[in-house]
Amino acid sequence: MKYKFNIKNLDCANCARKIEEALNNDKNITKAVVNFANLKLTIETPLETNVLKYVQKIVKNIESDVIIYENEVKQEDIYDNIIILLLGIFLGLAGFILKVNDTLKEILIVFSYIILLFKTFLKALKMLIKNKTLNENFLITISCVGAYLINEKIEGLMVIILYSIGKILEAKAVNNSRKAISELMNIKPEYANKKMGKKFIKTNPEDIKVDDIIIVKPGEKIPLDGTVIKGSSSLNTSALTGESTLLKVMKGDNVLSGMINEDGIIEIKVTSSYEDSAVSKILELVENATDKKAKQENFVSKMSKIYTPTVFILAILFVLFGSLFTNIEFDNLLYRALTFLVISCPCAIAISVPLSYFASIGKASKEGILIKGSTYLDELKNVDRIIFDKTGTITTGKFEHAELIVLDKKYSKDELTKIVVNGEKLSNHPIAKSIINLLDTCENIEIKDFKEHKGEGISFTYNGKKIKLGNYKFCQFKDENALIYININDKTVGKINITDKIKESAKPTINSLKNKGIICEIFTGDSKTKSLETAKNLDIDVSYELLPNDKYNLLEKYINKKEVVAFVGDGINDAPTLALANIGISMGGIGSTSAIEASDIVIMNDDLLKINGVIDLSHFTNRIIKQNLIFAISTKVIVLILSAFNIVPMWLAVFADVGVTLLTILNTLRILKFKKM
Ligand code: ADP
Ligand code: MG
Repeated sequence: MKYKFNIKNLDCANCARKIEEALNNDKNITKAVVNFANLKLTIETPLETNVLKYVQKIVKNIESDVIIYENEVKQEDIYDNIIILLLGIFLGLAGFILKVNDTLKEILIVFSYIILLFKTFLKALKMLIKNKTLNENFLITISCVGAYLINEKIEGLMVIILYSIGKILEAKAVNNSRKAISELMNIKPEYANKKMGKKFIKTNPEDIKVDDIIIVKPGEKIPLDGTVIKGSSSLNTSALTGESTLLKVMKGDNVLSGMINEDGIIEIKVTSSYEDSAVSKILELVENATDKKAKQENFVSKMSKIYTPTVFILAILFVLFGSLFTNIEFDNLLYRALTFLVISCPCAIAISVPLSYFASIGKASKEGILIKGSTYLDELKNVDRIIFDKTGTITTGKFEHAELIVLDKKYSKDELTKIVVNGEKLSNHPIAKSIINLLDTCENIEIKDFKEHKGEGISFTYNGKKIKLGNYKFCQFKDENALIYININDKTVGKINITDKIKESAKPTINSLKNKGIICEIFTGDSKTKSLETAKNLDIDVSYELLPNDKYNLLEKYINKKEVVAFVGDGINDAPTLALANIGISMGGIGSTSAIEASDIVIMNDDLLKINGVIDLSHFTNRIIKQNLIFAISTKVIVLILSAFNIVPMWLAVFADVGVTLLTILNTLRILKFKKM
């Protein structure tokens, strides 16, 4: 038997894992899955009774605060609902058509009502008792029962039949848009081939430790992040980047979980545990994305709480005033009031806003853009200014042609190269990574007191000498032509000329952002001459020679001026600035975990144009939401007025309600087909 429970007070992912482990270790439980993201616990067990109590006891022993409780609404199966619907329609038809005696007719009709209305009634009751709120289920139940009582029996049945059909279609539509997201969820690797002596055995990726060695065969997913130690292959990165470009890897290259091995066999030394691997981070992010709700979303859910009771009270007032001040028959007034209840169902409005964001975040993930919450997606359309970091963001960050020039003849080129390469090995900066690739040396030397000075360079001691590598200010050198200077004991003894290319996508991105009326600017730690050259090429403002702290302060000024500012960085040394910006966007190389953590939106490949795309998506989503709301509300108001004057029969009101809901859903699904990305 499979059971689903809710979890409360579970606030650390680690506790979730502990609980899951304990449950799985229990002899009476076949399988347990704790979903930290949506706080659900699924249990498979041969036990038939008291499963909840049994599970609660185990969980209490592990985490005493955590509460496990029964699901409010049972997982519904569309097919069950279809069968119930058909049965209800059949009984109802029989009741109205068959030529049998009146009592039997009535019994058939009542049964049809009960079968069709039962679930809706239960839901309404549960909401009322548990959350003390009235919802659409309540409105539908009252309308149907009311219609029956005032002898509008066909109308009442029509209401619940149309409503049920609407719900079934709605569930299908929602499922469809979920698929977009679950396709992304497919990146989860099922197993890893772990090396044990000469053999490889299939294991759960979660059981692999750092420094374990795994093998990935053609067609398999890479289960954990690591470094290739044997073999070479092409990897399909589409799960991470949204584009099926092939990445060639060989010995020494880093690979990320979620990539698919296309041809060769590779052996990988694992560099991070499963929970820290790219795939886990991405899954966690997408699962949690809907938690950070946009203002509009919160507004709608708050509104729908007071909406239904308000509508209900209005309907009562309508009947009261009608019978006091007009001479319309009481039954007729009641009929109009019930129609009013039906048409007031908030379904279309309640579903369209969250579904739009959901679809939009799903669409973006498919394109290799991870958005951490609908609030960021929503905010993007209001961006006034976008600030770009330079190295690795505007430029490729993959430097070419490093040339080391000796300025002090006391040192040989080889010796300086040795010092530089060994020092940069300890730095994470894109410059450092390129230098160790470009300047070759095989000699390892011992380095002490290594320190990274963000935005300036690095320092360390070697052989008792104080070494500094960094920009001209850091090394206190007079000219600023080279990117990196080498100081030994505070004297500049060499420099490195190294060039970095502007990304091809930089110019078109900046141009189209400007066309949207967004101000673009570069913040960089690079020297004046170099920065102005880049800025001139791209026709963009630039602030240069900034330390990470200066970037932060400058950005703060804009934010204090009430501008909505997005900051685009690489996530390596820009974390505070990324966090401060209204929207932090990182271009994380392919799925670097630091980039994923530091920002609100992650562009998985390095394509700047995606920023443009995601802003378009934000506008498009907003447009869809507005269309849906305007359409739903205006149709409702019109039908409402018509029903007050008795022009619209009750069944037509339901028809309108269901129709509006479906049209808004279909309109929302257009987001999944959005082209301009
Ligand atoms: P940007 O703002 O363009 O991303 P950073 O703030 O990261 O640049 O770095 C600014 C400058 O500091 C670089 O242009 C370089 O001269 C120097 N620098 C930073 N890190 C290092 C390093 N690891 N080795 C040498 N120089 C460095
Ligand atoms: Mg940088």
